Amino acid sequence: MNTRFNVRKKVLGNLTPVRLAAKNGKTVEGTPSEPRPGKPKSRKRTARISPPTTTAPIALDTRIFGQTGIMAAHLLPGSKPALIDTGPANTAENVIEALAELGITRLDSIILTHAHYDHAGGAGRIAEHFPEATIYAHKSATRYLTDPSLLAGSVEIWDGKAEELFGSPTAIPVRRVRGLSDGDTVDLGGRRLQAIETPGHTRSHMVFLDLETDAMICGDALGIQLPGSRIIRPSTPPSDCTHKEAIASIQKMRSYTPASVHLAHFGESRQPPEETFDRAILAINDWHQSFIKKSELAESEEELLRSVNACVEATLEPVPPSVRRGFEAINPAWLNIAGMANERKHRPDDFADAV
Ligand SMILES: [Zn+2]
Repeated sequence: MNTRFNVRKKVLGNLTPVRLAAKNGKTVEGTPSEPRPGKPKSRKRTARISPPTTTAPIALDTRIFGQTGIMAAHLLPGSKPALIDTGPANTAENVIEALAELGITRLDSIILTHAHYDHAGGAGRIAEHFPEATIYAHKSATRYLTDPSLLAGSVEIWDGKAEELFGSPTAIPVRRVRGLSDGDTVDLGGRRLQAIETPGHTRSHMVFLDLETDAMICGDALGIQLPGSRIIRPSTPPSDCTHKEAIASIQKMRSYTPASVHLAHFGESRQPPEETFDRAILAINDWHQSFIKKSELAESEEELLRSVNACVEATLEPVPPSVRRGFEAINPAWLNIAGMANERKHRPDDFADAV
């Protein structure tokens, strides 16, 4: 059967950028039940806000698609503050404002886990706002930052709607960008952040371990876990995602015995890292096995999409409707299934293997 999938013609929520609520020194999350569209009526401006005293990661809600609690940028506070992932281009102002509300007037580093629109699209705009910052990404991903036109492949995946959904990334000058290899470290001021290669979700994905706090910022390497649920949903989009590498990378992450794990979608996992790793691997295997079983029977893309969806839903623990909507907004089933179809097409031998 034809394994090429087209993006379903869906609108993924309200695209209007909205501002953030921020609380000094705490996870900065929106409240899903309390949307805050548009500008607030009034707000007090404090002349000088003290930056956070903690060194723990702070999740800043980008409010991607106008929704709270589905996409975080992570601030690592300290004498040399760093931002890990920025969110998309069209919510960069939300992140800049959240940083201002936390008293962050300078960023030394902007660090990207991978070059997807929702993680790195805002890097150019935020780099303009913080001209002293150096921008880091895997050495194979830096070219997308200096020349966003290379993201054309992703535009195709999103059926030409990528910029409508995520905004237009701004190019970053080459002199400001550094490529990272496995084991490289970034100076956070008195402590270091280690870059760890974790191919799987993308070939050039990295996670980052704060060597002082043992907090691991995981990007999409573990999948998606949204507030209000323990469920971890794999994230297997086109075009170079592979389930074997994803699982090997999770085992590699486990070997560092992090004290906490922080997901881009969304925030610190509510379970201990060991349980989160187990759940993430189990989820990838479940998706993979379901896809193989159902694709033997399905006669069309639509039928495969429906049957894999039904199979996965049947194995899910109950989740509130709001969590289910959040999953579909940030991690739609069609995108994951397209990724698995793509892997099977281009790496059939690898794909056939169970892990
Ligand atoms: Zn991604």
